[in-house]
Amino acid sequence: MMDKEKIEAGVRLILEGIGEDVNRPGLVETPSRIARMCEEVYGGMYQSAETHLSKQFDVANSDMVLEKDITFFSMCEHHLLPFFGKAHVAYIPDGKVAGLSKLARTVEVFARRAQLQEQMCVQIADAMAEYLHPKGVMVMIEAEHTCMTMRGVKKPGSRTVTTVTRGVFAEDANLREMFMQMVKL
Ligand code: ZN
Repeated sequence: MMDKEKIEAGVRLILEGIGEDVNRPGLVETPSRIARMCEEVYGGMYQSAETHLSKQFDVANSDMVLEKDITFFSMCEHHLLPFFGKAHVAYIPDGKVAGLSKLARTVEVFARRAQLQEQMCVQIADAMAEYLHPKGVMVMIEAEHTCMTMRGVKKPGSRTVTTVTRGVFAEDANLREMFMQMVKL
């Protein structure tokens, strides 16, 4: 599990490094507050997508299942600043479907850690492929990165879009087109 004492000591060092007085009233509780927050924000490291995706139901048809506009918050691993937005997760079942809420849970497992958007997209798609064995998977993530909007190039509102396809989605342009249409609806 997380080492809260280490996190608290680290936050104190950063504050001292900035030149702050770590004993002033506004900052006294900040290290322990951040340590508690880390359990939530980075809690995905201690969860497994398998737990969520292994609860499955039989289906006869193999039409696309899309869970779209899954809101998420993550932390960019280069700056530990938030990036946030929406994930759209689709798959073509091969006899089995997962509970709909489980797709959102899977997004959370990979969002709640130090992360890169591109890598998160791949991890969600690979987990879906591995634990659900569908005919195909497509994941699209749209996000605003505060490391780009509050610092650096400072372009508020700009969004980064990434997609990953597996199986039939990689082979069939019509399926990808259908995904895009459904996401836009
Ligand atoms: Zn960053």
